[in-house]
Amino acid sequence: MSEIRKDPLSYTWVVLATERAKRPHAFRKRTEIKERRAKPRPCPLCEEAGLPIKEYAIWPGVIDKKTGTWKTRVLPNKYPALRPGLELAQTEMDAIFHLLSGVGGHEVIVETPRHEDVLSVMPLDQMEAMIRTYCQRYRYWRSSDPRIAYVLIFKNYGLAAGASLEHPHSQLVATPIIPPRIFEELTEAKKYYELNKECIYCKLIEVEKKAEISRVILENDTMFALCPFASRFPCEVSILPKRHSAAFEDITQREVSDLAKILSGVFKGVDAVLGDPPYNYMIHVAPLRTPGLLYYHWHIEIIPRLTMPAGFEWGTDIYINVVSPEEAARALREAE
Ligand SMILES: [Zn+2]
Ligand SMILES: [Zn+2]
Ligand SMILES: [Zn+2]
Repeated sequence: MSEIRKDPLSYTWVVLATERAKRPHAFRKRTEIKERRAKPRPCPLCEEAGLPIKEYAIWPGVIDKKTGTWKTRVLPNKYPALRPGLELAQTEMDAIFHLLSGVGGHEVIVETPRHEDVLSVMPLDQMEAMIRTYCQRYRYWRSSDPRIAYVLIFKNYGLAAGASLEHPHSQLVATPIIPPRIFEELTEAKKYYELNKECIYCKLIEVEKKAEISRVILENDTMFALCPFASRFPCEVSILPKRHSAAFEDITQREVSDLAKILSGVFKGVDAVLGDPPYNYMIHVAPLRTPGLLYYHWHIEIIPRLTMPAGFEWGTDIYINVVSPEEAARALREAE
């Protein structure tokens, strides 16, 4: 029998199709083989990020104190989806149509000067520099343009995940609206908080620690990684801080170092089980004007791109997943 599971954190439903069930390792051969190491090509990020800071960089980035060279850089996106502007984010209603001017921001976060770095092998100090750069950008946007409502930091890795550049980089898009997926998570979390007077994400960590069949991949003193109960995709992973916090940039030095270790561990597992697959990750935080929310808890969602959403998914927003999160967690845990 298949199972239909509801995600406790959003209004997402998932069909676990046990009849078509696959082992996580079954996806290994179908994934992209990375050839980057074999044939280096001219890279605009190596070139641009290496230029003197001047007007190229939005933020000079984390600098290596010993050598004086850069460890991360923040550059403007050459083809921004949204851009800062002086005009007001005007709302127009025309009969039934709602229109807003495309004000916002679109940045490229260069994660490392080394073209070859991938997260599974990136040195921990470099990963920490990347995390500190994310924090700096959240801080910048929270205290800047009041028209901006939300900032999403995400990473596309591999062609199938939408990455057009090979050089390790993340992106930031700032929007004048709260994205629907975040709105849904906020709504569900608020509902739970009003009924139970506690954060559902804090509760989730407590419940998952006691689950009979574990979905936990790994944890340390301050960070927790698991395969969500209602995973939409094979080997989907969520990472949460154990301490309640709605704003990513409130992370402590200790948590930065623990998060780097967890990310490194998760991606080592992902590579071992799936063989360097394309993936996306997204950081979900509270909207810009509400950093201290008691009912929302920042987290990272990682989605290896192994299957394609098709007609049923597009038509219903219900996902069919052929790998149980319990199996996926076990494989990732054992690999790590
Ligand atoms: Zn490069
Ligand atoms: Zn919490
Ligand atoms: Zn989320």
